[in-house]
Formats: sequence, C-alpha cells, structure tokens
Amino acid sequence: MKTIREYSYEELLDRAFTKLAGRKGSEEVFEVPKANVLVIGGKTIIQNFRDIAQVLNREEELLKRYFMKELNVPGSINEAGQLELRGKFSAVSINQLLDRFVQKYVKCSTCGSFHTKLTKKGKVFILKCEACGAETSFQAF
Ligand SMILES: [Zn+2]
Repeated sequence: MKTIREYSYEELLDRAFTKLAGRKGSEEVFEVPKANVLVIGGKTIIQNFRDIAQVLNREEELLKRYFMKELNVPGSINEAGQLELRGKFSAVSINQLLDRFVQKYVKCSTCGSFHTKLTKKGKVFILKCEACGAETSFQAF
C-alpha cells in the first residue's frame, strides 16, 4: 500500500475530484425561492408569491394562510397573484418565515427531499415524502 507521500500531485487531485463528483451526484439540488418584498403605504406585498407557491408545489391559499397566521394580519391575493398583507414587514422577516415554512411543510425530515405532498385530514396536515415514503403529521392551520 502506498503512503500519502508516494502519490503524485496529479494522483491526489484525481482522488479529490472523484470524491467530489461522487458526492455531488447523490445530493439533491433544490433552491428555496426568495420572496420579492415591496412595502407600499401600510401594505407589504410579496410580488412573486404565485411563483413561490408553484416552486414549492403548495396551494396559494395555504401559503397565504400561513403568512396571515404567523404575522397575525389580514391578507389577500390580488389579480396578479401577489400576496398583499396589511402592515409593514421587512424582506428579511418575510424570507425567514418562508424558510421556516419550507423546513416544516415541504422538506422531508427523514431524508431531506423536497418532493413531498401535503394533505389535510380534519385537523391535521400529513406530509408525505415521495422519495422515501416517510409520513409526518402536524396540527393544521
Ligand atoms: Zn423522505
């Protein structure tokens, strides 16, 4: 067996790349969308709300209710598919909430996949992972 000193620089590089490539293949690439937030007057508008719901594969109504519940303000979806919330909120806090939503209601806590389905049964949400089959339930809102 060779010790590390006997490998040439090229050989070491080769080994390093092989390891990196192997790792990349098994990791899932999913980018959590960032909310474009605009504050006008007394309202906070999430401009790309519809796109976010689509990327996350969640109903707009559900995502709307989540923001209303977390911020404790009324909100509505306008004709352009933007979410309008009463009150002024920073882009940072809106994106933190969005991130929390993804971690809890989209990402599978067992395998980390984002290919999941959320269904409502009575007073509970069931998050079912399409990658590993795991099911998690939460209190619905
Ligand atoms: Zn899973």
